[in-house]
Amino acid sequence: MRIDVVSIFPEYLAALELSLIGKARQEGLLDLAVHDLRDFTTDRHRTVDDTPYGGGAGMVMKPEPWAQALDAVAGDGDERPVLIVPSPAGAVFTQAMAYELAEEKQLVFACGRYEGIDERVLEWAGERFDVRPVSLGDYVLNGGEVAVLAMVEAVGRLVPGVVGNPESLVEESHSDGLLEYPVYTKPSAWRERAVPEVLLSGNHGKIARFRRDEQLQRTAARRPDLLEKLDASTLDKADRAT
Ligand code: SAM
Repeated sequence: MRIDVVSIFPEYLAALELSLIGKARQEGLLDLAVHDLRDFTTDRHRTVDDTPYGGGAGMVMKPEPWAQALDAVAGDGDERPVLIVPSPAGAVFTQAMAYELAEEKQLVFACGRYEGIDERVLEWAGERFDVRPVSLGDYVLNGGEVAVLAMVEAVGRLVPGVVGNPESLVEESHSDGLLEYPVYTKPSAWRERAVPEVLLSGNHGKIARFRRDEQLQRTAARRPDLLEKLDASTLDKADRAT
């Protein structure tokens, strides 16, 4: 997968050189490039913002540097790359969206700052990109970079080969609409707290039931909204009893 990130703070994205995403880049599974928006300005001060039409607080990102940057990363393939524009006014990012984006050939991320990007850029970019404003959640960040770090990590780990054991992606929170069960490691007794006995029993059926019950109870306690959305046909008799 090809990923391009455009930002006025390319250093922010240095974390994408670390851990599994960094390794995937080294191994060629992810071809990820970070671009400095100021490299696409033409004035001496490398200006990327200006005052808003209609007045109001803050500055707005100028359209032309964005057009130049997006032209440079668009590629000349037949497929329209997905252009993700992080925004608190976008659709909320979900695991389902991460799975969908992991199928794409090229993702371009446009990191906004100040009061955001001149709206005409999104309209214009629609001619060449599949433009998607996406929010990390219902709160406001200072810029799109943190949102991009989260999204690239969530999408990148779903690209085949990035996570060594693909099975670890199957039983995760949100993969089946529920939160993951609690996990434990050695020692079996620690500070007067014991690991649930069933996990030491070697009885795979009982362990699976215990974990499923924990998933259901945890989801009911922490995220009842997820249970409401769950397809009832995916629940068995024992699930309903929980
Ligand atoms: N004035 C904008 C509004 O109210 O919708 C907020 C601008 S915010 C200070 C600057 C930039 O941070 C945005 O353009 C966007 O790139 C990013 N950003 C802020 N909150 C975000 C969120 N929840 N999800 C994704 N990106 C966010």
